[in-house]
Amino acid sequence: MRRSPFLTTAMLVIGGVLPTGLAADELLDRIDAQRPKYVEIASKIWRWAEVGYREVQSSSLLADELEAAGFRVNRGVAEIPTAFVAEFGSGKPVIGILAEYDALPGMEQEAVPTKQPLKSNKAGHACGHHLFGTASTWSAITVKEELVAKKLQGTLRLYGCPAEEGGSGKVFMVRSDLFKDCDVVLHWHPGSENRAGLETNLANISGKFRFRGKAAHAAGAPHQARSALDAVMLFAHAVDLLREHVPQETRLHYVITNGGNAPNIVPDFAEVYMYARHPDPKTLDGIWTRIEKCAEGGAIATETTRSLELVGNTANLLPNDALAKLLDKHLRAIGGVTYSAEETAFAEKLRPSLLRPELPALTDAAKVKSIGEDQRYGSTDVGDVSWAVPTGGFSTACVFPGVPMHSWQAVACGGTTVGHKGMVIAAKTLTLATLELFNDPKQVAAARESFDKRRAGKSYQTRFPKEQKPALNYRDSGIAP
Ligand SMILES: [Zn+2]
Ligand SMILES: [Zn+2]
Repeated sequence: MRRSPFLTTAMLVIGGVLPTGLAADELLDRIDAQRPKYVEIASKIWRWAEVGYREVQSSSLLADELEAAGFRVNRGVAEIPTAFVAEFGSGKPVIGILAEYDALPGMEQEAVPTKQPLKSNKAGHACGHHLFGTASTWSAITVKEELVAKKLQGTLRLYGCPAEEGGSGKVFMVRSDLFKDCDVVLHWHPGSENRAGLETNLANISGKFRFRGKAAHAAGAPHQARSALDAVMLFAHAVDLLREHVPQETRLHYVITNGGNAPNIVPDFAEVYMYARHPDPKTLDGIWTRIEKCAEGGAIATETTRSLELVGNTANLLPNDALAKLLDKHLRAIGGVTYSAEETAFAEKLRPSLLRPELPALTDAAKVKSIGEDQRYGSTDVGDVSWAVPTGGFSTACVFPGVPMHSWQAVACGGTTVGHKGMVIAAKTLTLATLELFNDPKQVAAARESFDKRRAGKSYQTRFPKEQKPALNYRDSGIAP
């Protein structure tokens, strides 16, 4: 960490003294002193790499830490065994911090700069959620200590949020009214740059289309069979043709999660897991209706039957101007990442494996980028939280500049000091911003005002029917239910 630049900037930004009366550098020193403990927690979660709704050890580890630190922990909320809410204090304001901890299937990779052959289909932390959950917990515990020491009023919550990657965990947590009385929610995400912004992203609908036909010997009695795989292939072809006739910002992607078991058996079951995304949820609804027609066409042509399980549905992020400003201020006070000689050597071995002609300079990770209103092309269930509560977020450099998330390179970086450095910046930024919200009611009011302004005249409603439960087994792709 760059200590002296921080102190200089911090003095400019917050006068060198937190509104709590505690010197900012003292507080940040205390966070630094806890680093080995939280690196160990993040490393455990990285190693366990549990996928969505299966984060049993990861969620318990974080919930146990919070409980031991004096939080009241409510586990298994929203009918999700790995979701929890940890709370401390009482009354207003109610400030929430989000934590995620799910990994991505099939992404196993050691913390080395060369791709390893897959030994199994194990998961890996390719989106850095082991850092996300750990930094948020670290920050919540630090803020709690400050609330006690300074006898500050209010309620602090850490939301343990499972299955961000496709499972829409937070959507069900919002629906269970867990955010109802919350004044502000803060979150962060590991990335390749440091930035608090006004970015928005894409709303997302995802589901598993399943086809059922009749099995028979593929050579001896093909006329007696109806192929579920044929239906999947027709569906996929129709979706690929559809790409030409959807609005520009649309994203369509799928994987075939079951295409049969052996070439000499006509598959009587096949499954395709489909994602569709667009910045506007209403436009996306229309696109999804057309995708359902692609499935209908596939089933008609092949004389198979079809069903759809809606797995995910998330809103586009509603940016918050006041919170972006607050987070940007503190992120700038902390500053970015500089790499050691060892980390630089790791980057030099790893970055040539990336498919791009030019890579940004490694020194980009030292910068804090400016607030921008960019359109991003990912999706997150934080989107649903952001339509319910004023929500602010930022990213820190947890992978080298130019490394995309959801790659083996991201898993590798996340298992090293490169990821841990970004996690420390996040823990510090979250701590300073959260404390300012507890100290200054004007900040909370400004966040609400920004929220009301941006949301004016618009609303968001999830398409999950009331009776739908979270798809707790969604990572069992390809198994006929
Ligand atoms: Zn991700
Ligand atoms: Zn993520």
